Amino acid sequence: MTLSRVSVLGATGSIGVSTLDVIARHADQYQIHALTGHSRMDVLAEQCLLHKPAFAVVANAGQAVALQARLHEQKLQTQVLHGAAALEQVAADAEVDVVMAAIVGAAGLRPTLAAVRAGKRVLLANKEALVMSGALFMQAVRDSGAQLLPIDSEHNAIFQCMPGNYADGLARVGVRRILLTASGGPFREFSVEQLASVTPSQACAHPNWSMGQKISVDSASMMNKGLELIEACWLFDARPDQVEVVIHPQSVVHSLVDYVDGSVLAQLGNPDMRTPIAHALAWPRRINSGVAALDLLAVGRLDFHAPDNLRFPCLQLARQAASAGGTACAILNAANEVAVAAFLAGRMSFTDIPVMIEHTLSTITSEQVQDLDHILLADQRARTQAEKWLARRS
Ligand code: NAD
Ligand code: MG
Repeated sequence: MTLSRVSVLGATGSIGVSTLDVIARHADQYQIHALTGHSRMDVLAEQCLLHKPAFAVVANAGQAVALQARLHEQKLQTQVLHGAAALEQVAADAEVDVVMAAIVGAAGLRPTLAAVRAGKRVLLANKEALVMSGALFMQAVRDSGAQLLPIDSEHNAIFQCMPGNYADGLARVGVRRILLTASGGPFREFSVEQLASVTPSQACAHPNWSMGQKISVDSASMMNKGLELIEACWLFDARPDQVEVVIHPQSVVHSLVDYVDGSVLAQLGNPDMRTPIAHALAWPRRINSGVAALDLLAVGRLDFHAPDNLRFPCLQLARQAASAGGTACAILNAANEVAVAAFLAGRMSFTDIPVMIEHTLSTITSEQVQDLDHILLADQRARTQAEKWLARRS
C-alpha cells in the first residue's frame, strides 16, 4: 500500500481534529506533511508531537517562535512557518498528495485554491471558498486535474449517490433533482419572538452535530443550508431550482438524489464527520472511520418537513444570490461572516443576521466575476458595508 502525504489546513478545528482521528487509525497509509492552526496553540503542539509533520503553520511570528521552541525541546524536526503565504506553500508542496481544506470562512480561499491549482486530491470542508469563487474554483479544478471530494456531509452523501459520470450533466445521467437535508438546527421550533432573544451559546449548541462556532450559528440561522445549496450547484453543476431543501431533524439521511425513473438514492449514517472524511481520504476504497454502525431500530423513525422561510430567511437570501450569480455569492458570504461575528460578540441579535445580509446584498450590485482579486474586492466591499450598517444601528 502506498503512503499518502497529507496537509491539514485548519488542523486545530472540529474537522481538523476529526481528520487526525481517522488518520491515526491508518498510520500505515497516511503520513502528515503539514498541520496549520490560527489559535489553540496547545492543541497544535500536541498534534505535532503525535503526527510529527515536516511543517506547522501558525498565524504570526510570535506564535511561530513559541511553538518552534516548544517542539525543539521535544527534539522534533518540524519546521514552524507563519502567515498566509506559508498556508499556500504547504497546500501546494510537491511532496503533498492530499489536502484537507478545513479553515473556516474566506480565510481558506487562497490556500484551498493553491491546493486545487497544484492538482492535489482536495478534501473540501471549507465551503465558503467554493461559495465565494464558484466558477473560477471549478475551472481551476478542471485545468489542473485536481480531485475535488466534498467533506460536507450532505455533499459527500450526494457524491456517493451520483453515478460516476455525473460530470456529463444531471439531465444526461437521469437526475431530476438533489434533495439536501437539514436538521433545522437548535431553533427549529422557535417562534420569531423567541428567535429575537436567543444567545450565542444557545446557537452553538447544535442538537446533532458538534462543530465550530461559525458553522453552528450558520446551522441555527439556516444560512449553512443556503451556503450548501450554492455549494451543491457548483459541485454537481446543478441549477438552484434543481436543489430542494428538506428538514430532517434526526440527521441520519445525509442527502438524496432523485432520478427520472422515480428511484431516490440516499446515504445514511450516524451524524459524525469522520464518515465523510474517511470516505474522501480513501475513495474509491473504504476504510474504517471509527464511527459506530447505524442502529436503525434505535433511530426508530425518520421525519421530513418543508423549511420555513419566514422564520429563517437566510436560505431564501442564498437562493437569490445563487440565481443572481456573479459576485453576489461572495457578497452574501462576506456579509454573513460579519453578521455571525457580530452576533457571537453580542453586538447584535440573532434576527439581525438576515437583515444585515439583505441590506448588504441590496446595497452592493453583483458584477460579473473577472478574477480572484475581483472576488476579494467584492468580499471587502461587503464587509465594509455590513460594518457600516452595524455602526448606524448601535
Ligand atoms: P473550527 O472553527 O472548529 O476550525 C476552524 C479552523 O480554521 C481552525 O483550525 C482555526 O485555527 C483555523 N482558522 C480560523 N481562522 C483562520 C484564519 N484567519 N487563517 C487561518 N486559519 C484559520 O471550524 P470547523 O467546524 O472545523 O469548520 C471548518 C470548515 O469546515 C468550515 O468551512 C465549515 O463550514 C466546514 N464544515 C464543518 C463541519 C463540522 O462538522 N464542523 C461540517 C461541514 C463543513
Ligand atoms: Mg453540511
